[in-house]
Amino acid sequence: MTSTSATGLLTHELIRLGGAASDKADAIAQAGALLAAAGCVDPDYAQSMMRREAAANTFLGHGVAIPHGLVEDRAMVRRNGIAILQLPNGVEWNPGQTARLVVAIAAQSDAHLDALRRLTRLLQDEDRLVRLFETDERSEIIAALQDEHQTAAQGASLGDLAVVFDWVVPYPSGLHARPAARWVETVRGFAAQVRVRRNADAGDAKSLISLLQLGLKHGESVVVSATGSDAEAALAALRRVMDGLSVQEQADAAQAAARAAERAPDWSPPGAPAYIAGVAASPGLAIGTLRKVSAVEAEIPDRPVALTEGGAMLDAALSTTRFQLRALADDTARRVGESEAGIFRAQSELLNDTDLITLTCQLMVEGHGPAWAWNAAVDRIAAGLSALGNPVLAARAADLHDVGRRVLTVLEPTLKSDALSGLPDAPTVLVASDLSPSDTAALNVDKVAGLITALGGPTSHTAILARTLGLPAVVAAGSAVLDLADGATVIIDGQAGRLYLEPSEADVISASAWLEAQREVRERESEVRALPAVTRDGRRIEVAANINQAHQAAFALSQGAEGVGLMRTEFLFLEADHSPDEAEQFEAYCAMLDAMGGRPVIVRALDIGGDKQVAHLELPREDNPFLGVRGARLLLRRPELLEPQLRALYRAAAHRPGTLSIMFPMITSVGEVLALKAICARIRAEVGGPETPLGVMIEVPAAALQAESLARHIDFFSVGTNDLTQYVLAIDRQNPDLAAEADALHPAVLRLIHETVKGAEAHGKWVGVCGGLAGDPFGASLLAGLGVQELSMTPREAPAVKARLREALWPDLRELAERALAAESAADVRALERRGA
Ligand code: PEP
Ligand code: MG
Repeated sequence: MTSTSATGLLTHELIRLGGAASDKADAIAQAGALLAAAGCVDPDYAQSMMRREAAANTFLGHGVAIPHGLVEDRAMVRRNGIAILQLPNGVEWNPGQTARLVVAIAAQSDAHLDALRRLTRLLQDEDRLVRLFETDERSEIIAALQDEHQTAAQGASLGDLAVVFDWVVPYPSGLHARPAARWVETVRGFAAQVRVRRNADAGDAKSLISLLQLGLKHGESVVVSATGSDAEAALAALRRVMDGLSVQEQADAAQAAARAAERAPDWSPPGAPAYIAGVAASPGLAIGTLRKVSAVEAEIPDRPVALTEGGAMLDAALSTTRFQLRALADDTARRVGESEAGIFRAQSELLNDTDLITLTCQLMVEGHGPAWAWNAAVDRIAAGLSALGNPVLAARAADLHDVGRRVLTVLEPTLKSDALSGLPDAPTVLVASDLSPSDTAALNVDKVAGLITALGGPTSHTAILARTLGLPAVVAAGSAVLDLADGATVIIDGQAGRLYLEPSEADVISASAWLEAQREVRERESEVRALPAVTRDGRRIEVAANINQAHQAAFALSQGAEGVGLMRTEFLFLEADHSPDEAEQFEAYCAMLDAMGGRPVIVRALDIGGDKQVAHLELPREDNPFLGVRGARLLLRRPELLEPQLRALYRAAAHRPGTLSIMFPMITSVGEVLALKAICARIRAEVGGPETPLGVMIEVPAAALQAESLARHIDFFSVGTNDLTQYVLAIDRQNPDLAAEADALHPAVLRLIHETVKGAEAHGKWVGVCGGLAGDPFGASLLAGLGVQELSMTPREAPAVKARLREALWPDLRELAERALAAESAADVRALERRGA
């Protein structure tokens, strides 16, 4: 954010009201003369502006053009200034584009950016802009272009808006990016202006960066205020979200503390090797060869393009990045956890920041290429965050750089860094100034044994991801680590926060022995994981994985998954900015079947709607999307989505016979099932596919209650407890206020699962569960007791579920289920666990 003043750039002598111009060249010549007369530029500057017109379009839209000289002619600028030529009758700027306000810019530095920023905002305030085309008051024009500056300058001492409430930050980690992104999302839906103020500092609640700049810490008091027609509603919604998130934030902090307390056994080197001390970020030992990863300092090419083209390129790059981050968040949520996925959801919110986008556009308007402009804008805003000396904000600057680099490589693919590729097969200890969350998430853990960074902190997103990946890591070790030579053998102790240099042979042998002992423990665990989930008296439950992509299969198998119980196909649509065609889908399904090596795979047909929106499908907005056209309802209305998917699936089934099953989401009625079955039969005949088991998800109470009728027509059921709980308890699954009450162990949910099993058994069909309850060891025991035969979960959850089932006796599980069905509340059901179930 620039703090330079717009005052003085635009004076009365630089404004000509009620002017007329015969053509664009005439308008530019007049504007150039105004600038020259005020001593801002050399007389030749108008020619430089004309040369710029030949290379780029300076028409901003809505009747405003902003001619300016070429970058190489900056020497012609004697002082910064902005000249305004008002042309009430307009002049044709380009064919079909009429300029009524010509804003000619002479700038040596970025002094004019405040005025330009105001101008870009004014384009959205058409009424005010139109008044400027006709006004006979120079001061009205000056005010319009300067009051943005004044607002920015007063930002630090802004008062409160009309509707107000006080709040004390209850989040143990303060207002970091994940909850702040939720605040922004909430208020964006309202027209009201919403402000959050702590003492003299105020932030705009619609801008993530502005909120983060406040650096709110746990226990601080703030005043939240709003103005506008829906101010009351906006504040009520925001307050619900602010309060609702505190449960999650406190749980996350407690979990982080518990993880930190889960200390691995200590190790100390028998010799006394020299070490560099940093901050422990992820426990464990790693012995490896040092490899420095230098930050990519590649020169960003500055390739100016026409303004409209640059805008379109930026827009496209932002959408592509949003899709990438959404897919990454989705993937992280399914594999690691919802909290970790929040890292990438918050990064995505940074892409909406108006300051960032405005600044980029301004730099493009000045004549820079989109990649250069974007990079410079990211650098400037991130520098602003880092400069505030708050470690939380410095970490967010790292996120901004990370997401900025993603956009940059979309704009300029030649900048894709391969610093992390081509790592040797030998265990490597990476040394970097800092590592981005994206880089960390993408590390090949077969090659990288540990990480050490000069900067960063233990709460950075990189550290969080290193812990979830099980990579020993030390952060904030200082710049000394960057001077170490590549190729040396080192030992990282991620628990003690040390990097041991030049370890002796005895040190290496001792560390290897420690690692070997850890490996043996893991091996014993994995042997147990590989065993089937058979109760002590011989009842077997299938344990499968919820995975979406073939490359996740190896991990799922290593955790003991015996198949895929739910392959969500939405990711195929979310990842790209178009619907994947039949060929792309065929490839993805075959890859999954191949990766699972003949084990059963259940692919769920596209489940879009509700919480899963795909922008490029441009579905109509619904007031109640969870009760709207989602899942099977959408598939039946959109054959262009359903049919290519079914064709790809039946062709994949032919490719690996006997392993694929197809499942439909959000089924409510027998009629839907019959309609879907008829389409399947037709498509199967068309592509010559084999007979393939067809199942439906039980997610709607109506389907559970009619399970007996549905079971006549299908081969299996899979209960989606996430949605079933939402619909049974009438609790939006995304409402943080009600998260604690949306408990799948509620007896009402369990009774519907019981109905489902009875209905299926009446026709000799089987029931699985692929919602979140299946991955909870106690929930899994209960479901097994209810007669569920297959449980599908996040791969990481499989070992504990298997271990619990292997300890159980079938009659005990049945009794547990009966007691749970008779319980009065979810709490009573949970209490059964403590009583030794
Ligand atoms: C469910 O609803 O439980 C389920 C597994 O489907 P999703 O979470 O994808 O809606
Ligand atoms: Mg569902």
